[in-house]
Amino acid sequence: MRQILLLFSLLFLASCGQETKIQKLKENILALENQLTSLQKEYIERTENGLKNLSIAQDSVQAGEGLFQVLNRMGINDEQRRKIVLAIQDSVELSVLRVGQTFIAAKDSAQTVHVFRYQANPATIHLLFLNPKTTAFDYKLVEKPLVKKQSVFEGALEPGSTLNGLLFKVGIPGRMVGIVSGVLQCKVAFQQAQPGDRFRILLEESFFQDSIWISGKVLYAEFEGRVVGHHEAFRYEDPDPKSTFNAHYTASGEALIFDGLRYPLDRLHITSPFGVRVHPITGRRALHNGIDYGSPRGSPVYAVAEGTVIASGYDEYSGNKIAVRHRDKSTSWYLHLDKRSVNVGTNVAPRQVIGRVGSTGRSTGPHLHFGFTCPKGKWINPATKTMIATPKLEGERLARLKVQAQKIKEELALTESQQPQKVNDSTDVRMRMRVLP
Ligand SMILES: [Zn+2]
Repeated sequence: MRQILLLFSLLFLASCGQETKIQKLKENILALENQLTSLQKEYIERTENGLKNLSIAQDSVQAGEGLFQVLNRMGINDEQRRKIVLAIQDSVELSVLRVGQTFIAAKDSAQTVHVFRYQANPATIHLLFLNPKTTAFDYKLVEKPLVKKQSVFEGALEPGSTLNGLLFKVGIPGRMVGIVSGVLQCKVAFQQAQPGDRFRILLEESFFQDSIWISGKVLYAEFEGRVVGHHEAFRYEDPDPKSTFNAHYTASGEALIFDGLRYPLDRLHITSPFGVRVHPITGRRALHNGIDYGSPRGSPVYAVAEGTVIASGYDEYSGNKIAVRHRDKSTSWYLHLDKRSVNVGTNVAPRQVIGRVGSTGRSTGPHLHFGFTCPKGKWINPATKTMIATPKLEGERLARLKVQAQKIKEELALTESQQPQKVNDSTDVRMRMRVLP
């Protein structure tokens, strides 16, 4: 199968005169595979038992499950389950495990896991090796080389068609279609869009072995309408890839998101999502009534909206906790804080620092448990609320956006200098594609 894929991409790229690139890619893949094999061999040699006494357990994610449930089914004991979650939670978004993703564990006769392997996608492998000295797991990431491509899609609305509909028709993944229409919607009154109104979209996507889609982002979206006018959206990125400021803005720095809450932290790393789960400490099935964001101890915690502090105290489960009641009578909750810096009755502004991330109460490590109750007290999934870092970029960030927007325009021009291809027969959308060096 791999040979066929490789041959296919070879033929495809050869026609573009990129034989050397594919040769280099092949060498890279080989080198990485050798590295992976020697890593595993080195480990097995280090283990007294050696490979012959290790048995392999394998299982995959089923609907509604998290890592904890899968590990449980694989017969991994409570202590090791916790250690695996601890070792992997900083590197893997445990909230985005997909049905069918497979975990492999190599266990000895006492059921102790020595090697644990999680393949997030065809190009990304997370490995854990039991460290015999600490009995914790050492983490290793193996990433196979990806090919990055930029594509410009350009076209016009046809009678009876919508932008969304057209983008789906040309085969752009749903998540990116959602981003394009979401950011443009902030500026474009789509109900007044006319046939003949034009759009242009620049995507940057990563592929494994040239054909397997791994990830993608929308760098630029433009809409030019007879009635609705001309609008552009640029993807902005902070140096930190998990920064909450990473989003789409106009050229002047206006956030392209409808009014929303501010984020409670500067960077988001979800370690446990909202919903029914097996508790990492008690092992019991219960509603996890908020989102856990892993974050270093001492990181600032922000009020997500204007409001009044209605609770600021300590209990053995929540540790240091703060609750803020907002104007619409909903309440946001911030748990396991290291420090609380506001008292009951204080009025807080959006993005005011109210405390610091900690691990107080029932907690396995520094994180913020962030919850949201509606006016009647029911817990709701905070992820269903629109959150925004800032309505407008300022200072250093605004300057960085201007530089990035300029670079996006240059890349757009480069990609647009390629030969146009008609995407399919059911639309007039044209695509130009460029493999990035
Ligand atoms: Zn929690």
